[in-house]
Amino acid sequence: MNDNERLAELLFGGIDKTEEYFEAKYPDRGLKEGARVTRFAPSPTGYLHVGGLFGALTDIMTARVSGGVSMLRIEDTDKKREVDDGVSAILDGFSDFGLDFDEGVTKDGEKGDYGPYTQSQRVEIYQTVAKRLVAEGKAYPCFCTADELNEIRAEQEKSDVLFPGYYGKWARCRDLSYDEIKRRIDNGDKYVIRFRSDGDESRKVFFDDIIRGKIEMPENVIDEVLLKSDGVPTYHFAHVCDDHFMRTTHVIRAEEWISSTPKHIALFKACGFKLPKYAHTPQVMKIDEEDGTKRKLSKRKDPEAAVSYFVEEGYPKEALIEYLMGLLNSSFEDWRRANPKENVMNFPFNLKKMSASGCLFDLVKLNDISKNVISVMNAETVYNLVADWAKAYDSELYALLSADPEKAKAILNIDRENPKPRKDIAKWSEVRNYISYMYSELYKENYELPENIAYGDAAAIIEEYKKAFDINDDKQQWFERIKALCEPLGFTPNVKEYKQNPDAYKGHVGDVSTVIRVALTGRTNTPDLYSIECILGKDEVASRLEKAEDFYREGK
Ligand code: GLU
Repeated sequence: MNDNERLAELLFGGIDKTEEYFEAKYPDRGLKEGARVTRFAPSPTGYLHVGGLFGALTDIMTARVSGGVSMLRIEDTDKKREVDDGVSAILDGFSDFGLDFDEGVTKDGEKGDYGPYTQSQRVEIYQTVAKRLVAEGKAYPCFCTADELNEIRAEQEKSDVLFPGYYGKWARCRDLSYDEIKRRIDNGDKYVIRFRSDGDESRKVFFDDIIRGKIEMPENVIDEVLLKSDGVPTYHFAHVCDDHFMRTTHVIRAEEWISSTPKHIALFKACGFKLPKYAHTPQVMKIDEEDGTKRKLSKRKDPEAAVSYFVEEGYPKEALIEYLMGLLNSSFEDWRRANPKENVMNFPFNLKKMSASGCLFDLVKLNDISKNVISVMNAETVYNLVADWAKAYDSELYALLSADPEKAKAILNIDRENPKPRKDIAKWSEVRNYISYMYSELYKENYELPENIAYGDAAAIIEEYKKAFDINDDKQQWFERIKALCEPLGFTPNVKEYKQNPDAYKGHVGDVSTVIRVALTGRTNTPDLYSIECILGKDEVASRLEKAEDFYREGK
């Protein structure tokens, strides 16, 4: 045994496995040529960010279109930043939006043969690799305290070093003898395990980023920490070990990691592991409402940064996924037009076609997409989804809907299931207002009319309509009756005629029905009025007409 091997035993006496054991335990996946293995690797530090959903979708789609495997790995090595419900916030976020990984952590434990998929349970793997690196002289223990590290930094600042950090002549523990190390360990001194970098700052590393193309950077020179003093790895070392033993082919991660990639390349090389392909995804940005600048979505300023916002607001999960898919690949919209009914997950996503610059998250666009998605749902589906949402977020609405589901479905069915459905609803939290006039508990009268209609004329229209109205009419008869009101009151049933000769009339049939619409719903714009009257019923229609007439007469 040479000194390095003795040192490896001294530091990792408890590690009895070798890497061969793990190589055999996690064999090559034997997937078909071109199949991509990806992983989404969040840290449980709070909530699931919409950028996380974006990243996860990229991983899942990259694996899916290539017949590969996507994994969900929980990176919980930074216990200081971890929050209690961090993992469930992530898992809930994915299940709320119907995203499923092929392997990894799930709500009911784990699935897949390459686990554990939680880093804190993989410490033996990291230590086994670290032990080998020490035995080969590629890693060493470092006893420097925080104070000493600060001292080194201060000295480097004073002498204007180009690359500050722990390396080369600055690395005080790089060449400690076995005996010195043993003495300090026996003394109870704390240490970390550092990488012994052989990088040269004048040399360059290159890598091909799938999204960004060739990237050139100075080689890593830093003796990076691999294992912290509690034996737990840093992100850098965990990334290298995990993505090797999980047989990841494509590391897709946020652009903030680009600057660390030379470090990772050096570590892969030192470990003798095959380098995965890298793709650094752009950040999700928004236009600041106040100053119009493009900036990162921030939890503090933007409620929509957290995925839970979309659940609370009641966006159907398909809408957000459709929207994100359009951000991922701009060709999605054309594909969607050509394949309106296809499952969104069958989109032929192309990682290479992702844009490298930050993509803009635009709630207005999301609302448009969501309106389309909701407009093609049938009333039964809308009812079920609204009721589910209301149960959690609007108990009064839930009580109204569930007291008479047939009425609610009839309301939600108006102008639906036809070739040109209305696109009024973007999210379930809008439904309360959308249907409020159909429930006396929610209805608030509002008799405001467009300026061209005088109160006196409105009162006269309602007076006549009250006499003419018959709940048993079919739609044709209903409309004929409204048309018949026009001429005696100075309006015309013929819109064209009105347009040709506006001075000859007080208005046209559209104005007459507006008066009735406002009297019954408090609005100038609603779905089909005939259907609304049928659902409101004879008595309610009569009573609302009565009240409106009184109002217009008094207001005259
Ligand atoms: N845990 C890292 C993060 O949340 C993951 C980065 C990666 O995907 O490698 O930023």
